[in-house]
Amino acid sequence: MAIFSLQNRVAFVTGGNGGIGLGMAKGLAAAGASVVIAGRNKAKAQSAISELRSHGTLADFVDLDVLKEDSCHQAVRHAVERYGRLDILVNNAGTTVRKQPQDLTAQDWHLVMDTNLTSAFFCSQAAYPHMVRAGGGKIINIGSMMSVFASSYATPYAASKGGIVQLAKSMAVAWAKDNIQVNAILPGWIDTDLTRKAREQVQGLNDRVLSRTPAQRWGVPDDFAGIAVFLASPASNFITGAAIAVDGGYSVQT
Ligand code: NDP
Repeated sequence: MAIFSLQNRVAFVTGGNGGIGLGMAKGLAAAGASVVIAGRNKAKAQSAISELRSHGTLADFVDLDVLKEDSCHQAVRHAVERYGRLDILVNNAGTTVRKQPQDLTAQDWHLVMDTNLTSAFFCSQAAYPHMVRAGGGKIINIGSMMSVFASSYATPYAASKGGIVQLAKSMAVAWAKDNIQVNAILPGWIDTDLTRKAREQVQGLNDRVLSRTPAQRWGVPDDFAGIAVFLASPASNFITGAAIAVDGGYSVQT
């Protein structure tokens, strides 16, 4: 269907070498986009690239450390040099430090805020002129249930995920004139490397997630393929500044 087609589009996905990022990258590739996945772990990227190329589209990996502003600009530049344009940016890279607020160090705070929030700002700034040149673009920020709810063991994570929604809204307002739509996705509890650690560290988490999620299961990265295509395609051209939960219903019941 043409409104969902990403033919001739180029996408850049931070942390697209695994987890939710790869789930979205697979959706974008299946809809016809050329996909650049960006991150640090090359071994993970190798298998991700093979999977993406199996869709018959072009896919590459570029080194990116989102903690460094220069690296964000260089990685985006590399994607544009390789494919000639940039249409879609997915700000997905993320991390957490699980401690009570009184135990957090300044280093913990900056690691989480810079990885989850500041990086999205740097990458969006890097992408902006290329999107303007392309006549428009799509930016997708990955939030969390903690964009909305609180957690005693994830203070900087919740602050960064609240911030990334507000960042999306502000960029949506600023760049609507450039035909750039900026939206956020709020994942529920998804089975990835990030939450495998949480399940080990937080007692009772698995049962709490299952009992509160109406879909009665953890999400999987492939659950994000469809929303990524929707928010990256002409189908969502009049949607900007929105935050869409993909959570099996987690956020609609107490
Ligand atoms: P993963 O740990 O699988 O993915 C995190 C990704 O972020 C990795 O691919 C990693 O790449 C990348 N990353 C982390 N730090 C950096 C860095 N400094 N520079 C470049 N890349 C970096 O977890 P998820 O797939 O679960 O997480 C993806 C996003 O989804 C995150 O923003 C997370 O907060 C969010 N999310 C996840 C939920 C879940 O339940 N899983 C729920 C809500 C939100 P590399 O390995 O190369 O470092």
